[in-house]
Amino acid sequence: MSTPPAAPAAPQSGPGASAPVASPDAGVDTHCPYCALQCGMTLRPGPGGPEVVERPAFPVNRGALCGKGRTSAEVLSSAVRLTGPLVRGADGDLAPASWDEALDRVAAGLLRVRAAHGRDAVGVFGGGGLTNEKAYALGKFARVVLRTSQIDYNGRFCMSSAAVAHQRAFGLDRGLPFPLADIGATGCVILVGSNLADTMPPALRYLTELKRNGGTLIVVDPRRTRTAEQADLHLQPRPGTDLALALGLLHLVVAEGRTDADFVAARTTGWERTLPGVMAHWPELVERITGVPVPQLRRAVALFCDAPESMVLTARGPEQQAKGTDTVSAWINLCLATGRAGRPLSGYGCLTGQGNGQGGREHGQKADQLPGYRKLDDPAARAHVAAVWGVDPDGLPGPGRSAYELLDALGRDVRALLLMGSNPVVSAPRARHVAERIAALDFLAVCDVVLSETAALADVVLPVTQWAEETGTTTNLEGRVILRRKAVDPPPGVRTDLEVLGALAERLGHDKGFPADPEEVFDELRRASAGGPADYSGISYARIAAEDGVFWPCPQDSAERTPDGEPAGTPRLFLDRFATPDGRARFTPVQHRPAAEEPTPDFPYYLTTGRVLSQYQSGAQTRRVRELNEAAPGPFVQLHPRLADRLGVADGEPLAVTSRRGRAVAPARVSPAIRPDTVFMPFHWPGEGSANTLTNPALDPASRMPEFKVCAVRVEKA
Ligand code: SF4
Repeated sequence: MSTPPAAPAAPQSGPGASAPVASPDAGVDTHCPYCALQCGMTLRPGPGGPEVVERPAFPVNRGALCGKGRTSAEVLSSAVRLTGPLVRGADGDLAPASWDEALDRVAAGLLRVRAAHGRDAVGVFGGGGLTNEKAYALGKFARVVLRTSQIDYNGRFCMSSAAVAHQRAFGLDRGLPFPLADIGATGCVILVGSNLADTMPPALRYLTELKRNGGTLIVVDPRRTRTAEQADLHLQPRPGTDLALALGLLHLVVAEGRTDADFVAARTTGWERTLPGVMAHWPELVERITGVPVPQLRRAVALFCDAPESMVLTARGPEQQAKGTDTVSAWINLCLATGRAGRPLSGYGCLTGQGNGQGGREHGQKADQLPGYRKLDDPAARAHVAAVWGVDPDGLPGPGRSAYELLDALGRDVRALLLMGSNPVVSAPRARHVAERIAALDFLAVCDVVLSETAALADVVLPVTQWAEETGTTTNLEGRVILRRKAVDPPPGVRTDLEVLGALAERLGHDKGFPADPEEVFDELRRASAGGPADYSGISYARIAAEDGVFWPCPQDSAERTPDGEPAGTPRLFLDRFATPDGRARFTPVQHRPAAEEPTPDFPYYLTTGRVLSQYQSGAQTRRVRELNEAAPGPFVQLHPRLADRLGVADGEPLAVTSRRGRAVAPARVSPAIRPDTVFMPFHWPGEGSANTLTNPALDPASRMPEFKVCAVRVEKA
């Protein structure tokens, strides 16, 4: 299965390739395959294959790339790349097969299960890294071809709590309601549970600009990360107590008379109902819950409120909790009560994680959703999208299970699965159980670029193209829709996900409606999204190419026009009104509650999980890049020196970490940067050191987000 280095692609025809650069010698302008920053880069031919070069003109990263982006071309020519379909034979092994044979097997497997057990026995699982076109086509495939309600995606594990909190406060979910550049110009930023220095290093420059302009940075994190080291104030709460922390800060805001009464009266609703819960969280109580001393709480309020403008940015720390939605709501309440929303340089934002974490949650691969961020249970939304798809709205299935619930139902209610762009054997909570559920399926088909741990369990593996081998759009964490251009030809033997969906649809009786041309899919997506909350109707490939990104919402019939007469995008939301029926932002009354699992004598410590600088998500790509693997070769358990002393363990010695779901073993990494009651493990690896063997699938009641960020564990010398 070795793959020759990919050759540079011929310049594409059509508007998507027209600007800014598309000469084969100069290279092709595109974007990084990994995180939600979607850094601009140029791929150009080099002696050993395509090379990544900086592209300073792209405004988000201005040329800067982290090691993952800089080495991303290596995955294009990786020797472990899949280059032909694999089909499991009677001997139980995966063996090479022709595309026709593999696609026939997939169609037959899905049909067989549907005939025996009904439509909802066939499931679909997508990913937050899929392009907008793929996410859209996958959702349409599930609802129109398979007619199943059982579709969700791994983005449920990333941004869903912030999405629900956004919608209930502002009536619209776009991660950042302002461009990243605004961060550098505000007065104070509270960064909650984000380690930008490791997860998206080029974004650090916005924090540097903030400080250079006299602004202040407050970081909330149980660990003193490289990001926290740059803060003016680092609050180090117990895992799972961010909600109490936000309530405590808001209590002090009220007690010190720092609320913005005019803003609250003119632009919000619900303050009176919210206030009692806030006042029940007095500073000393919050100190007891969080471990953050009262003087630090007071200093945080002073920094936040003394600044002329300020922001709160959250990431997975507060969001990946069984109360993640309420936690984010508590931080939004802080912004609303102080008038730090709906005006320039102030507000709340979520730092989305996955490459298309924003667009991937807008166009129909979520269990309850239709394209354009429409709701599947809204009759008007069903009628609009069904008309675009040329189907009867009554034939569209209703909402299905959320991601973990879907995975948990495999082999029972859901007996066949088509999986695209995800590796849940490594990335899902309670991962060993998830692997068992996957193994219990009657039929599994996986589309991937490498033989991931999940693909290795499949009955059929379909090798597909990846980022620089195909054109498509993604939507970065700012809501900026960008064009990832095809820059190299794929290895012979692989097909695009869109081609795979089209071929499967044809075999399942739908010979129309699933084009392989991404621009054609995008044009249909534009029509399907028109009039919806995430309206892309005024965005085209040609415009993205010419403008290097267009912010949604961008309705075709917008009264706001660009100097060229095009419908204007919306870099800054909510300046005049929020997207609620009455135009006002909504406070949400929330109360602190403990984590689903608090430490007990049997499991006396907190485990929290996260990412490291040189790996990305389940590591399916980055673990195959030599330089990244050398920098971050495997899992570890970070623990405080006092805890290490108590356990009698030295740096580098193997530690066993046990939760109620399993046991993982990894070397100790002793560091004063973590709380003594907490251990940290990165989650990029399978096997003995897999952090997600331990994590808790307790779900947030509103977002169905699992509680990755906190569970109770026992730690012992292995
Ligand atoms: S910060 Fe994210 S998008 Fe930018 S180069 Fe690194 S992984 Fe890629």
